Amino acid sequence: MEKCIIWFRNDLRLQNNLTIKNLIDRNSSVLPIYILDTNSLGSASKTWLYRSLYELDKQLKNQLKVYDGNAVNIIERLIENYQITQISWNRKFDYKSIQEEQLVKNIAKKYNVREFIYNSSLLMNPEDTLKKDGTPYRVFTPFYKNNYLGLNHNAFSINTNDIIILENKEDKNIDLLKDHLIPEHTWYEKFDRYWEPGEIGAQKRLREFLDKGLLGYAEGRNRPDLDNVSRLSPHIHFGEISPNEVANSLGDIDNEDKERFYTELVWREFSHNLLFFNPKLDTTNLQDKFNSFPWLKNKAYLDAWQTGNTGYPIVDAGMRELWETGYMHNRVRMIVGSFLVKNLLHHWHSGRDWFKDTLLDADDANNNASWQWVAGTGADAAPYFRIFNPVTQSQKFDPNAEYIRKFVPEIGDLPNTYIHDPSNAPKTVLDNSGVKLGKNYPSSIVNLKESRQRALSAFSELKKTSS
Ligand SMILES: Cc1cc2nc3c(=O)[nH]c(=O)nc-3n(C[C@H](O)[C@H](O)[C@H](O)COP(=O)(O)OP(=O)(O)OC[C@H]3O[C@@H](n4cnc5c(N)ncnc54)[C@H](O)[C@@H]3O)c2cc1C
Repeated sequence: MEKCIIWFRNDLRLQNNLTIKNLIDRNSSVLPIYILDTNSLGSASKTWLYRSLYELDKQLKNQLKVYDGNAVNIIERLIENYQITQISWNRKFDYKSIQEEQLVKNIAKKYNVREFIYNSSLLMNPEDTLKKDGTPYRVFTPFYKNNYLGLNHNAFSINTNDIIILENKEDKNIDLLKDHLIPEHTWYEKFDRYWEPGEIGAQKRLREFLDKGLLGYAEGRNRPDLDNVSRLSPHIHFGEISPNEVANSLGDIDNEDKERFYTELVWREFSHNLLFFNPKLDTTNLQDKFNSFPWLKNKAYLDAWQTGNTGYPIVDAGMRELWETGYMHNRVRMIVGSFLVKNLLHHWHSGRDWFKDTLLDADDANNNASWQWVAGTGADAAPYFRIFNPVTQSQKFDPNAEYIRKFVPEIGDLPNTYIHDPSNAPKTVLDNSGVKLGKNYPSSIVNLKESRQRALSAFSELKKTSS
């Protein structure tokens, strides 16, 4: 029987996983491994990873072996020690992982080990999505229409009893990673109230969404006070569920809700394509005219933003949702992002870094591409001069202020007319609601009109210098 290493990466599941399916089809025995690479992880997503590996290990009858170190050296040692004849993995699409895969391929070649490499994390390989002229798309709509409309999405199930685990002596269980992944700060413990990491949790989340969220998604997805979004993002990021399975579960895309949800899955593909074709997406503005943009650095502003103390309730609710749950609703991500880069004139990198550290779904492709989108520096981005007004956004998308009241309870007694902008509420209304600006809730840290004007002026200076 052939002996195969399966190198788990962002595909922490057994169902709908091509490496597993093909392993069983080949009738090979397996040494399942995971090699830690903390580069792309923030504090929150590390805690998720730990839990997710734990679940995968349980599914593999406690035979998942985990390592911390250089993937190439570790794999070479395992090939020698276990007379491995095959290796299999699912591709990742960031530059560092691509380089690493190349080195592992070289090792496989050296030992005459056959490699089986698949894509189980994107609906399409980036190389197959190019324009007719062979260049990558930079605009979403044609990217979507020309590649994804009418695409088939296969789902398949695995009989886990068919997985034959190779007998091995490696003393490398999950606990070895605990110190690397679980921080001393215990803020993450409350995430257990909201999430169930792992493949089983992902499946439950999908079913719940299909039962309760999908109907009305097209409109409801913009409302942080409603339960229409799937909250699948950390599960999808770690590959606990395959995007193909998610797309397949929609059946025929025959209504607006399904179409809109499918479009969001394709936005994820678009971000991964941007990262694949622009390996420096994290450091380089896709529109280089922004390289000389006069970003400000103001620690007090940044602290207020991070801790949810800007005096703009929708921004504060979003930042507190993030701290409380490790997640933030997409509409609110856009509002807090615009507020940081436009009203506070902070570089998008500072927002990206905070999100990377605190989001459970922190993802180098989605996070960098979305921040570039919000900042106006990216491909097919919101133009810089489109500046969200957090008060009108709040009135429109959280009309009854239920989301605000949940995360900013100290202003909960304000009437709906004033709760979106307490700094402009009459003193009597504040007094009657127990709100003392500057004491139990901050006054707004910037004036919206002035800060908007400041951003627009900086932008028009940029246009002059770059034209
Ligand atoms: C500033 C900013 C930073 C972001 N950082 C991340 C990040 O680090 N990781 C991340 O997964 N998403 C990120 N997003 C995209 C989006 O906000 C989340 O994917 C979405 O909110 C996840 O919630 P959900 O699973 O309930 O989404 P749903 O609305 O249920 O969508 C289903 C799935 O589609 C994908 N998706 C949805 N919206 C987007 C989008 N705009 N771009 C790309 N993929 C999308 C996700 O995989 C999501 O799970 C960011 C957005 C902004 C504006």
